[in-house]
Amino acid sequence: MATQQEMDRVCGMWIDMKEANFTSDYNGREYYFCAKECKETFDQDPNLYMKDFENRKP
Ligand SMILES: [Zn+2]
Repeated sequence: MATQQEMDRVCGMWIDMKEANFTSDYNGREYYFCAKECKETFDQDPNLYMKDFENRKP
């Protein structure tokens, strides 16, 4: 079974969903973070990280 991973939108690190300690709900979706600092940064301006992530897609 493949490990489910989500990208930490703030620092770009891949987070194992089962082991995630820091999550945030935005637009009905759950986002995962490596640390409290990343979650708080995201919470301050989620839109900024949405755009940034879209631009990072190959
Ligand atoms: Zn992070």
